Amino acid sequence: MEPERLERRCPRLGSDVTFGYCKVCGEEKTPCFKVFDCWWERFDVVAHMQDCLSPQVFAALSASRTPPDKVASLVELIRQAQARGAQD
Ligand code: SF4
Repeated sequence: MEPERLERRCPRLGSDVTFGYCKVCGEEKTPCFKVFDCWWERFDVVAHMQDCLSPQVFAALSASRTPPDKVASLVELIRQAQARGAQD
């Protein structure tokens, strides 16, 4: 099946959308900034977008992803909470 026809529930709209919609729903028909987060479990969305987009647009899209240090901060907060729980 063409990836454009795949469907999922959109966390922003609260309704079902196709991947084809996600590819063009941003400003000036660019992909939604959450396209990697929403589709990585379904197929290789990074490779697909790299094939479809100009290097500049792909780089801008990649830069809009959640920064890895935010994830690291969350992991550290969980670790600290677990350490506090072990002391109680
Ligand atoms: S990529 Fe954007 S438009 Fe598509 S499902 Fe995710 S949040 Fe919704």
